[in-house]
Amino acid sequence: MSVADTVHAPTTPQAAAGGRTPRWEPAEALRRADPLIADLLAAEAERRAESLQLLAGENLTSPAVLAALGGPLVDKYAEGYPGRRHHTGCALADTAELLAVDRARQLFAAPHANVQPRSATSAMLAAYAALLRPGDTVLAMSLEHGGHLSCGSRANFSGRWFDFVGYGVREADGLVDLDQVRELAHRHRPKAIIAGGISYPRHLDWAAFRAIADEVDAYLIASAAQVTGLVAAGVAPSPVPYADVTVAATHKLMRGPRGGLLLCTAELADRIDRAVFPFTQGGAAMNEVAGKAVALAEAGSEAFAGYVRRAVDGARALAAGLAGHGARPLTGGTDTHLVTADVGPLDITGVEAERRCAAAGLMLGKCALPYDPVPAAESSGIRLGTGAVAAQGMRPEEMGELGDLIGALLRGGPDARITGRIRELARAYADRR
Ligand SMILES: *Cc1c(COP(=O)(O)O)cnc(C)c1O
Repeated sequence: MSVADTVHAPTTPQAAAGGRTPRWEPAEALRRADPLIADLLAAEAERRAESLQLLAGENLTSPAVLAALGGPLVDKYAEGYPGRRHHTGCALADTAELLAVDRARQLFAAPHANVQPRSATSAMLAAYAALLRPGDTVLAMSLEHGGHLSCGSRANFSGRWFDFVGYGVREADGLVDLDQVRELAHRHRPKAIIAGGISYPRHLDWAAFRAIADEVDAYLIASAAQVTGLVAAGVAPSPVPYADVTVAATHKLMRGPRGGLLLCTAELADRIDRAVFPFTQGGAAMNEVAGKAVALAEAGSEAFAGYVRRAVDGARALAAGLAGHGARPLTGGTDTHLVTADVGPLDITGVEAERRCAAAGLMLGKCALPYDPVPAAESSGIRLGTGAVAAQGMRPEEMGELGDLIGALLRGGPDARITGRIRELARAYADRR
């Protein structure tokens, strides 16, 4: 398929919008310089407006953050740290970064923050670089049980450079098995233990992980990208008092720029900073740093806490809606904005469930489950999150209705009532963020 086929090469935003007022107007400079990309972006805005985004890690960046991202710091080269830059003309960039760092430290009650990592994976790389040597043993949630690629995948630097041992969740209740974590820690004596994953819907017992790490004299790294917004809002327990290093993300539930954030103890501050720059990165993206400052301020507001509570209430209602049709939410429900559900009881694979939902305008992800009897390429699960629909203002009752619609769609196949209602909800919330 050629690029032009994907975009259908309309020549104006009006054409991309099928003659209606377009949802997104490319700046004149972009339309003139690159009509193909301009139309592609307008078509992407239309695609989003016609569907509901339920991918677990996706969200809608806040309008204030978007404005900062497009601001003049996009052009600034500022290698190094405030007051210690390689480049001149950094006084204002320095102030932006100091604001971001201060706000991160306040919001998460962290002794030290580094706001430069370009992604959560880059932040993980820096955390490993600060604490470990190649060949060290690391104990982390196994990939099949919800650990991220950066927790030991052979396709990722982590699995190539370190010796990973995986812990998992119990088959009976889907909860992290702390007895297994302790047993593996004593048997393998890891240099670091990583707590956290990408699809675990329950709060983690950070204090218990700390106690196990202390028993074997290991560092504790919190892999907290998925739960950063929940912690900021005070809706989930914070790993910061317990972990030596917390790896956070400013996108996902935080609604900030796509990026990583490192929080650590005062003792590790220098090592973490040097592990980011110059060890694993060059100059930071200063527009993203400014955007992170904005997002960190917004995340301290009562409005943001209300938003996160709505996302969690909605995820609980959504899980219940799915369960009403016979899908099986892992751990029986959720404490977070995430729902991971076994759709095997509905006689459908995760891949087919993802495809059927996408065709009806619901964007969610297939997900291999712990103890999945079906090969990972097909899988038995779906994973979804309520961050984006909550950001559009959707109410928990409507998210519960989405669970019911998804369940009906997976059980009985598409029908006009289901697809009509999904389109109606998508259009009702399309222009809100
Ligand atoms: C999302 C996520 C990542 C990856 O984040 P990127 O910014 O895409 O690199 C890593 N770990 C966890 C736990 C995550 O939830």
